[in-house]
Amino acid sequence: MAADNLSCVLYGIDDMRIESRPTPKPGPNQVLLSMHSVGICGSDVHYWKHGRIGDFVVNAPMVLGHEASGIVVETGEGVEHLKKGDRVAIEPGVPCRMCDCCKTGSYNLCPKMEFCATPPIDGSLCRYYVHAADFCYKLPDHVSCEEGALLEPLSVAVNACKRAQVKMGDHILVCGAGPIGLVSLLVAKACGATQVCITDLDENRLKVAKELGADMTFKITSRDGREVAEQVKKEFGRIDKTIECSGAESSVHTAIYATASGGIAMLVGMGKAEINLPIFEVLVREIDVRGNFRYVNCYPTALDLVASGKVNVKPLITHRFKLEESHKAFTTSSSPGCNTIKVMISCHEE
Ligand SMILES: [Zn+2]
Ligand SMILES: [Zn+2]
Repeated sequence: MAADNLSCVLYGIDDMRIESRPTPKPGPNQVLLSMHSVGICGSDVHYWKHGRIGDFVVNAPMVLGHEASGIVVETGEGVEHLKKGDRVAIEPGVPCRMCDCCKTGSYNLCPKMEFCATPPIDGSLCRYYVHAADFCYKLPDHVSCEEGALLEPLSVAVNACKRAQVKMGDHILVCGAGPIGLVSLLVAKACGATQVCITDLDENRLKVAKELGADMTFKITSRDGREVAEQVKKEFGRIDKTIECSGAESSVHTAIYATASGGIAMLVGMGKAEINLPIFEVLVREIDVRGNFRYVNCYPTALDLVASGKVNVKPLITHRFKLEESHKAFTTSSSPGCNTIKVMISCHEE
């Protein structure tokens, strides 16, 4: 095994370095992984550009990356379900397993969650990485490591569709055609939604959404969220549930105004910490406004969706780079002109 554990480390705002770190050893119930594929997420880019997301601040050097897959190279004491050579998708958040949230099955809300590349926890954009074995999911032979990495955003969509109770025959509006909006479209379809409309400001993203199976796409031209909602309803008709993936205030307004009375407005996108809400609309039309944070018990479903062919995440990957080219990968990912959907980094030494 190479001693050289090349890692993509964020030192501070706009200060990313590729440096060698010691190769970790797996403790009990952990596995050492040779990393294979890591997708760049909006949050990784945000930490790189701004050094923080809300209360999470990069105060010390931190390895980036959390949408990942790898190959088991060593198992720690007590690991029984994985062996050397297994290819796995990595669920990046490991909760405390002791608190009320963990014990009642909402481990995504655990206050002691250790989540990859959320400060101060190191991520997995490196050559070798150690993770809790029970948060690693063995991939069947026909599911690629890139698909394994995409189970992370896909799990967000699985969680959102579960919480929005998307079911057969539903008409769904998805706000925002970035990676999370697009996987929400795919999962809503897999849930049996018969009509899915997706909105965005960007023509290219809507084109991709159309190719992925959107029944209708809507290009936003107004900053007035209520006006957008009226236009969408006029063209698309009834909307049972809305999955808001942009985090923009106007888009949250669209979600609330567009959703039919008694429906669900599912808020997934993270934007400003505080925004105005059309609360009368929520009250007098009994709109259930729900929050979504990451995912809980969704990786197995996400893997099943991909393995069974019900969901095809491959078209989301638009760009590929090597670990050594991480800086270029991040620059590409954050340049609107590059028309990126998902940028994938290969950590595998050829
Ligand atoms: Zn992510
Ligand atoms: Zn906990």
